[in-house]
Amino acid sequence: MADRFFQNVMPDFVPENPNVIEEEEEEEARHGRIGGHPQGTEESLLRLLSLPYSTLSQQLQRAGLDLKETILVNTWKSTGQQVEDFTLYAGALGTAFLLFKCFQVTHNKNDLSLCLEIIKACDSSSIHSRDVTFICGRAGVCALGAVVAKYMGDDQLLQYYLAQFKELKVSKDHPDELLYGRAGYLWSCLYLNKHFGKETIPSTSTDAIVREIIKNGRKLGTREGSPLMFEWYGEKYWGAAHGLAGIAHVLMQFELTPDELEDVKGTLRYMIRNRFPSGNYPASEDDKGRDVLVHWCHGAPGIALTLIKAAEVFGDKEFLKAAMDAAEVVWNRGLLKRVGICHGISGNAYVFLSLYRLTGIVEYLYRAKAFACFLLDRAPMLMARGEMHGGDNVFSLFEGMAGMAHLFLDMVQPVNARFPAYDF
Ligand SMILES: [Zn+2]
Repeated sequence: MADRFFQNVMPDFVPENPNVIEEEEEEEARHGRIGGHPQGTEESLLRLLSLPYSTLSQQLQRAGLDLKETILVNTWKSTGQQVEDFTLYAGALGTAFLLFKCFQVTHNKNDLSLCLEIIKACDSSSIHSRDVTFICGRAGVCALGAVVAKYMGDDQLLQYYLAQFKELKVSKDHPDELLYGRAGYLWSCLYLNKHFGKETIPSTSTDAIVREIIKNGRKLGTREGSPLMFEWYGEKYWGAAHGLAGIAHVLMQFELTPDELEDVKGTLRYMIRNRFPSGNYPASEDDKGRDVLVHWCHGAPGIALTLIKAAEVFGDKEFLKAAMDAAEVVWNRGLLKRVGICHGISGNAYVFLSLYRLTGIVEYLYRAKAFACFLLDRAPMLMARGEMHGGDNVFSLFEGMAGMAHLFLDMVQPVNARFPAYDF
């Protein structure tokens, strides 16, 4: 089990030292040491953790923007601007999403126009796709396209993407989960309504889909177990990507009847009651004997983000308490040997950022900072040595370095940080 993650030996808290840079300069003057700081040592990591936040955030921003250039070359410029995989998860739309994040941080219009160029290529390549979600489908292309067109001031293009979005059809064959199913389509509707106003995608067109999910969930749910349960390829998953956590996360942001609301809460309570003694969560109903995965897709991190949302929406302390318990698991076992957001250190850092945003507890910001600093200090070295995996799609948003770049940029304005395509 231990080979999935690095032992977290980072201190529980390191206070910032506003004099750290002056002290180093004095030291260098005394001993005549010139040149940069060593990387990948205990000392170098502690130094990063004690930097004043403003200094560290400049370093993270620079690293994020440098990574963006590398990602752009490898996913767009060197491919002859051809899109093979259009998705946000592993393909070109992930690069566009990262460019939009860069624009939000630096207001550099070049990033925004390049972002729109990539979205246009994704539009052409997804035109016949039947996938209707933000993360793995055409809804992501149309929804992000509309928002970026708005920022570019291109109203005609905005209207085009909105119209294209409204053409998407959710069919009986679609599953209920987030990556390929109804929940992922509904998330895209929430995204558009957040950017363009509440009834941009009217409740008359989302209500039926919400009801359908609830109906399907009740069919497999039980009175003594979880009130809602779903299947994806024959597996009853619990996590954010394919299971209960991802579906509940989306449902609770829609208008529900009191009994539907109770079923969503009951489902979360069922998961909390049946978590592992360690505080982690099973990947699925049939996986209750295997306490292994601490990922956004399967395990405590994705479920923690859903519990944080539940604490926010319902105001119940029990969900906040459970989220904090899950965050402990992420701190202890979440320093994964991968960089991305789906099943890597970058995604796990967002648990702390979300808890920080909700509670204002500065130790959570420290923990997010610690995960980001670990990556900043060591990821390139560990990947070069083969001790850390860059992901199956090494430059992608969900599996690879674009996710790490996104985290670095989110650390610049931590109160605005959101897990991509999951949190608002
Ligand atoms: Zn994953």
